Amino acid sequence: MWRLWRKIRKTGRVAEPAPARPAGPLTSVAARLGGSVQIRHVDAGSCNGCEVEIGSAFGPVHDAERYGARLVASPRHADALLVTGAVTRNMVEPLRRTYDAVPGPKLVVAVGDCARDCGVFKGAYGVVGSVGDVLPVEVSVPGCPPTPEAITAALRGITGR
Ligand code: SF4
Repeated sequence: MWRLWRKIRKTGRVAEPAPARPAGPLTSVAARLGGSVQIRHVDAGSCNGCEVEIGSAFGPVHDAERYGARLVASPRHADALLVTGAVTRNMVEPLRRTYDAVPGPKLVVAVGDCARDCGVFKGAYGVVGSVGDVLPVEVSVPGCPPTPEAITAALRGITGR
């Protein structure tokens, strides 16, 4: 146990060096959140590729939490929804209810091409539309999937840190 503790202490922080700070919050809602954003993730119909990259953005290398963005388990504790995937028929109502459960001020971040414009699932029988067709989207992160750097940069744009 002590050996492990000494190793952790000796290794120190291994996250990537922080890139330059973004110019400022992207939206008026983001500005009102004061540099700390609690995020509830919702998979509305993703292939899980975007989830892998979100996991990486919050992992030890990119460590998005150091910029004030934190994933939470309940929409009632959240300021923002991080939505992935084209919205499937079965997820329209749960997505709307999750949004309604988030206290204001709140914002929606669409992560990935599917969330932005249905991507490769456009026209599929089970797809209702993009996230923007169901909820007011304030921030979009393009890519299939977006890189963890792009996701982290978008979150930093919201926290302003
Ligand atoms: S944008 Fe690409 S990686 Fe993300 S859910 Fe769609 S197909 Fe999967």
